[in-house]
Amino acid sequence: MKKYKAHAQDLIDFIYESPSPYHVVENAKQKLLNAGFKALKLTEKWDLKPKENYFVTQNGTSLFAFTMGSGNVEENGFKIIAAHSDSPTFKIKPSPEINVADRYLKFNTETYGGPILNTWLDRPLSIAGRVSVASKNVLQPNNHLVNFTKPLVVIPNLPIHFNRKVNEGIALNKQVDMLPVTTVISEKLNTENVLAELISKEINVKVEDILEVDLNLYHHTKGSIIGLNNEFINSGKLDDLAMVHAGLTAFLNKSKSKATNVLAIFDNEEVGSRSKQGAGSPVLKDILKRIVAIQNKNEEDVQRAYYNSFMISADMAHALHPNHTDKHDPVNKPIINSGPVIKIEGNQKYTTDSDSSAVFEMLCKKAKIPYQKFVNRSDMLGGGTLGNVSAGQLAIRSVDVGNPMWAMHSVCETSGVKDHTLISEAFSEFYKL
Ligand SMILES: [Zn+2]
Repeated sequence: MKKYKAHAQDLIDFIYESPSPYHVVENAKQKLLNAGFKALKLTEKWDLKPKENYFVTQNGTSLFAFTMGSGNVEENGFKIIAAHSDSPTFKIKPSPEINVADRYLKFNTETYGGPILNTWLDRPLSIAGRVSVASKNVLQPNNHLVNFTKPLVVIPNLPIHFNRKVNEGIALNKQVDMLPVTTVISEKLNTENVLAELISKEINVKVEDILEVDLNLYHHTKGSIIGLNNEFINSGKLDDLAMVHAGLTAFLNKSKSKATNVLAIFDNEEVGSRSKQGAGSPVLKDILKRIVAIQNKNEEDVQRAYYNSFMISADMAHALHPNHTDKHDPVNKPIINSGPVIKIEGNQKYTTDSDSSAVFEMLCKKAKIPYQKFVNRSDMLGGGTLGNVSAGQLAIRSVDVGNPMWAMHSVCETSGVKDHTLISEAFSEFYKL
């Protein structure tokens, strides 16, 4: 139990230190560097050595790490675990300051992905992400990571007295109800450049040099372990940083294998993966192809390597809800702390088929890990994930798995302490194959 708790706490710490996809990748990068992985750049020539460990990033929000396999790459292929770095949130719009009747200052935002809007109300929120600053090279602005690390804004609810029907359910308007307020306007305040001035102080650059930002709101409160027997993890962004963390934990064991082990952390899953750093882009395919080509192999070898590969698409799953058991399939109802969930959908929103499911099931049996299955109620539309998007680029065998959780896309989600260790162990076993 102690082992489970320590691993869950490590996840909570990782999430707290990763308030934006840029920070997710930066933290993963630091862990890989500390473990002796070598950093490569997509723009530079690679020199890969057998059995060595490498990683490369794209846009600062996607990361691909790999350990060169000891076998022939065209025969042993790649063993890939994929997860995503982004989560539903609100992004700061350009010139974000909105003056409210010369009394309050709020920031203009747009919704990113599909957050459960009401969970973001009345929380201490902060801001983090990337800031792009003018440089001497027009094609290469200076990009800085920013995290204000203190609660800066709040999105206040209406009091029940102004909205007596609030508990009967209300539609929140993204442009009206969801704007965060940051301060009471005083005479000293220059209301036009509040955010730029904050950034300028934070990263020590001139206000006029700050050109554009990619900043998101985040719940500033750190996650915690809760429940009668300390069995639940309650935190923001478990979807999908729990799978990023589990994949990273397994990958950092540097298991030796004939296959080339790969950890792929994609951005933009929450908005359909169609960006240069998303699972819908050719970035992973390019990297795999390059790993094969560099070993003096030909195009046929590249294709053989793909078709000898296997991918675990790791994204969180829905656990049986204690207040809405009716929302689930009558038979397959994943329970928290009962092990990883294999996600199945006949219409191919998940990549799992009987062959790839059997692989994951044998893997779990080998590692003595319990597992469960998820299918949607036949009259409910479920969500998609990385695997089926990635399949548009790479036609390789793939299974969709994840840990069971409640309240997916709430600002504060809940998953299982024990499950986190179990799936990390399943992933470790996969890399050892
Ligand atoms: Zn997800």
